Amino acid sequence: MQILRTVAELRRWSRTLRAAGGNTLGLVPTMGALHAGHASLIRAARASCTQVAVSLFVNPTQFGPNEDYARYPRAFEADCARAAAEGADVLFAPTIEEIYPNGPDATFVEVPRLSDRLDGQSRPGHFRGVATIVAKLLTAAEPDRAFFGQKDAAQVAVVRRMIGDLLLATEIVVCPIVRDADGLALSSRNAYLTPAQRGQALTLSRAVRHVESLVAQGERRASILIAAAQVVFAMEPEVRIETIALVDAATLEPVDTAAPGTLFALAAWVGSTRLIDNAILC
Ligand code: AMP
Repeated sequence: MQILRTVAELRRWSRTLRAAGGNTLGLVPTMGALHAGHASLIRAARASCTQVAVSLFVNPTQFGPNEDYARYPRAFEADCARAAAEGADVLFAPTIEEIYPNGPDATFVEVPRLSDRLDGQSRPGHFRGVATIVAKLLTAAEPDRAFFGQKDAAQVAVVRRMIGDLLLATEIVVCPIVRDADGLALSSRNAYLTPAQRGQALTLSRAVRHVESLVAQGERRASILIAAAQVVFAMEPEVRIETIALVDAATLEPVDTAAPGTLFALAAWVGSTRLIDNAILC
């Protein structure tokens, strides 16, 4: 596995492969601290592309001023080993200056409306940072496919819209949420949880499963499904609900009735750790 540090190197890698013909390039954007969720994306890329690049960049512009940018887990050596073990050909690990040559407050990409919904509501500017970094990575690497996790469902909607609006040629592939055996959705931020908090954090996946089971029994009313999730949260008062919503997965607009393509999305705080989970219903 090659480790590339500059956009020029990444672009040269991509263009050389393309000029050679017969290659399909896959890109897996990550912020590192790789876990089995990231590994599933790399494996999906490996299965459908001849060449796979994993990017590793803790993107400062998607963190708010009081968020966890400084303490976000960083594990470069372990990430290199994991990416290589999963079959990545390239690890792209740029500096901040490489990605933001004129500083982080220069040119950016804004996806109106979607960026203010779900996570964007509580994290103003978050999706502007996400759209900007993904646009930069796709422009630099020019991959045929980019792989994202369903875990960040609103991010998927924002990136899809951005790719469509900017007429980018990359196809986006969404991979299922990878969970621990007890149901907790894997996240780099799970590393912040104490053992007691980890137990409390299971409330999110429990609420997701409960709502899924009600939908399987025929319940479609958003108000009833949201109330049912609130009951699950009420059993764990240490967990603070931020968002319980049923929205259209593409527009992120709230819906009254669950239908194919409806996203059930949760965000909640366990101590000072913000966790998310979701499911596509029906
Ligand atoms: P991150 O490093 O947290 O920015 O995540 C990088 C990519 O991995 C994003 O597309 C995430 O949605 C995806 N991802 C993170 N956690 C999971 C998970 N538990 N299952 C599937 N994909 C995930």
